[in-house]
Amino acid sequence: MKSAGEQVGRDGSFPAVLAAEPDGLPGRLVMLQPGELPDEQVTVRVAYSSLNYKDGLAVTGKGPVARRFPLVCGIDLAGSVEESTDPRWVPGDLVMATGYGLGEEHWGGFAALARVRPEWLVRIPEGRDPLWAMAIGTAGLTAMLCVMAIERHGLTPATAGDYPVVVTGAAGGVGSVAVALLAGLGYKVAAATGRPELEAYLRRLGATEVIARAELVDARPRPLERQRFAAGVDGVGGPTLAGVLSRTRYGGCVAACGLAGGAELSTTVHPFILRAVTLAGVESVQTPMEVRVRAWRRLATDLAPALVQEMTVVEPLARVLELAEQILAGRTRGRVVIDVAGA
Ligand code: NDP
Repeated sequence: MKSAGEQVGRDGSFPAVLAAEPDGLPGRLVMLQPGELPDEQVTVRVAYSSLNYKDGLAVTGKGPVARRFPLVCGIDLAGSVEESTDPRWVPGDLVMATGYGLGEEHWGGFAALARVRPEWLVRIPEGRDPLWAMAIGTAGLTAMLCVMAIERHGLTPATAGDYPVVVTGAAGGVGSVAVALLAGLGYKVAAATGRPELEAYLRRLGATEVIARAELVDARPRPLERQRFAAGVDGVGGPTLAGVLSRTRYGGCVAACGLAGGAELSTTVHPFILRAVTLAGVESVQTPMEVRVRAWRRLATDLAPALVQEMTVVEPLARVLELAEQILAGRTRGRVVIDVAGA
C-alpha cells in the first residue's frame, strides 16, 4: 500500500475534488483545510478512492447526484483511521466506506482526508488492502449484490446448466466484476458489450461468449424471444433490460442495478406471467451493514486477485475531472482506482 499523507501540506491543507454546482461553477480541484471537514467522529486518511458512474455525474454536474454544496465528490474511500472518538475504530485501522450518501450529501473520498460516521465503515478483510478495496469499490460491491440476488432466487451453476448468465455493460465497472465473479463461481457467462474490441479482455475475465450490445435491443420488441439466458446482471437498463427480460428462460432472475443506457423500462408482463421470470432490484448505497460485510467477505474469497488487477487502472486525483467525462461516455474499461494519497 502506498504510504498515505504525502498530499497533506505543512499547513495541513490537502487536495480535494469538488462537485459542479447548479449555478454553473464547474467541478474543480481545490485545496482544503482540516477545519473545513464535516463534524463526524472518525477521521480517515484516504489512500485510494475509485471512480464510479455516479461520480462522473457529480463531478460534471450532468446528473442530480450532489445534494449539498460545496461537496467533496467520491462515493468510495479506503485508507487508515487517523483519529476516532468512537471505540469501534482506532488509529491505524484499515477501513473503507462506500455509499451512505458519501459524494452525494456527505463529503466523500476524492480528498486526502475524510471525516465520516463510525457506522459507515467496513474493516478491510484480512490479507487485503485499501487498493484492493477500491479496485472493487461500489461497482464491485454492487456486482456481488447482484450475484447474491440471483443466488437467493435459487440459481446455481448446476441449475443454470448450459444456459449462460448474461452481464450487460460487461466492460464497465459493475460488468467486469460480475463477469469475473460469475465465471469464478462456475457459471457460463455471456458478456454483452458495445465494444467488440474488448472481447479478449472479457474472455480473460472468464466470459464464455461475448455478444454485441445491439443483439439485445430489438427494433420491434416482441414480448418473448428465444429463451437464451439462465439469469442476468444488468447495469444498463432501458431497452437493454427489456431485451434481457424477454430472453431469460423459464424461472430465471434478472438483477437490475443501473441505467447507463437509460432509466426507462418499456416491456410487457409476459416474461413475468408466462415464464415466471423475476426482476430483482439491487441498491448498494443503503445496503444494511450485515449484508455488506457478507458481500465483502465473499469478494475476498470468490474473486481472484489476479482478475481484480487485470480490470483495474490506477489514476491520480488530478485526472478525475477528465475521467469523469470518460466514464459517462462509456470509455473507461473495468475499474478506475483514484490514487488520492500519492497523486
Ligand atoms: P461504467 O461506466 O463503468 O459501466 C457502464 C457500462 O455500460 C459501460 O462500460 C458500457 O459497457 C455500458 N454502456 C454505457 N453507455 C451505454 C449505452 N448508452 N447503452 C448501452 N450500454 C452502455 O459504470 P459502472 O459500472 O460504475 O455503473 C454501471 C451502472 O450501474 C450505472 O448506471 C450506475 O449508476 C449503476 N450503479 C448502480 C448502483 C446501485 O447501487 N444500484 C451502484 C453502482 C453502479 P460496454 O462498453 O461493455 O457496452
